[in-house]
Amino acid sequence: MGLQELYYLACINCGSKYSPREIIYRCHKCGDLLSVEYEKELMNPEIALKWGARSLSVWRYIELLPINNRGKIVSLGEGGTSLNRCDRLGSHLGLKEVYVKNEGENPTGSFKDRGMTVGVTKAIEMGMKRVACASTGNTSASLAAYAARASMECIVLIPSGKVALGKLVQSMIYGAKVIQVKGNFDDALRMVEGICSSKPIYLLNSINPYRLEGQKTIAFEIWDQLGGKVPDKVIVPVGNAGNISAIWKGFRELHAMGLTDKLPKMIGIQAEGAAPIVNMIKMGLNDIKFVEKPETIATAIRIGSPVNWKKAVKSIKESGGVAETVSDEEILFAQRLLAKMEGIFVEPASAAAIAGLIKLARNGLIEPDDLVVCIATGHGLKDPNIVLKQFKKPVEIEADLSALIKILST
Ligand SMILES: *Cc1c(COP(=O)(O)O)cnc(C)c1O
Ligand SMILES: [Zn+2]
Repeated sequence: MGLQELYYLACINCGSKYSPREIIYRCHKCGDLLSVEYEKELMNPEIALKWGARSLSVWRYIELLPINNRGKIVSLGEGGTSLNRCDRLGSHLGLKEVYVKNEGENPTGSFKDRGMTVGVTKAIEMGMKRVACASTGNTSASLAAYAARASMECIVLIPSGKVALGKLVQSMIYGAKVIQVKGNFDDALRMVEGICSSKPIYLLNSINPYRLEGQKTIAFEIWDQLGGKVPDKVIVPVGNAGNISAIWKGFRELHAMGLTDKLPKMIGIQAEGAAPIVNMIKMGLNDIKFVEKPETIATAIRIGSPVNWKKAVKSIKESGGVAETVSDEEILFAQRLLAKMEGIFVEPASAAAIAGLIKLARNGLIEPDDLVVCIATGHGLKDPNIVLKQFKKPVEIEADLSALIKILST
């Protein structure tokens, strides 16, 4: 087509550059992660002049997305999620400005859709016919939907018995080939990386740098929704650690484009039983120690060997942020609190961000005047069982008015 891309892939460790026409997930020279980088001419505030005329969505920012054929985008209307100011929650915690970005509003109910619209569009560009991922549930639900939309075959590997009900049924109804692995997510990811490197199947876990490009639009939208302001702190639940890295990349690009002179501090939250990144940062280690048997009720972040740990640690350190763990009990409490106080029902992994907010506000690591944004990564209906277990069955009455009046007066 004679088209010259304005982006390329670069190794985060040795800096080797690769053509975006090549299907590659790790640096050939050193094996490290890749990142999509843009030519200098795009790092220009004038690019943003085009954004205002488009609705809030992932594709509002198309100039900074690594796509060649704008006519062949695979979309279900992703992004454009609400940024809710939560004054009741804020004042309860002694904080002035707390926002929750509700990623549960995406087409399949999680932020993964932002990555998949870009990733599956890329798979089509590359001429691939099959896509695959390992998943704790949301990645597979999202990939299954976008693969269906693009008439592609989809293979998903999930840890046996550890995927929330809503996520499992999504993958099934969208027509993916669902394979349960008798192991955890980390085992499933190792297997899927193996199959994608030996067969013409496109890998769409967050090791794929194109997916993270879609996810960085969370940062762009926050900046837009705050009227061109950047938060003091952004709190993100961390599993495989792609999303926190993507959001940080988004803010850095806004900065490089001259659209803001400020950057937020990135705060990463992990569950106590699956916290290799938090442990590394808190203990001041230079290398990560993976968790063999990760455990938490927040299945979306039940990951012991986060593939993007290097990017995530860099994001947290470079931004001057912190990392913290929360217990399962704190997660469930935060989930109920957010639902009751603000009308926002999120899944446990997302509630980890709220639990982190509560803990850090109490420890004084979040200042009363800070503008804080919590990323609510997925919808509460994904995992109804976790809620059912905590509540008594609703009362049951006879079908007459007097019974209703009686029950309401007690
Ligand atoms: C995938 C996911 C996460 C973790 O995101 P990473 O990019 O793997 O760190 C958190 N919450 C929900 C709901 C998710 O689906
Ligand atoms: Zn390298």
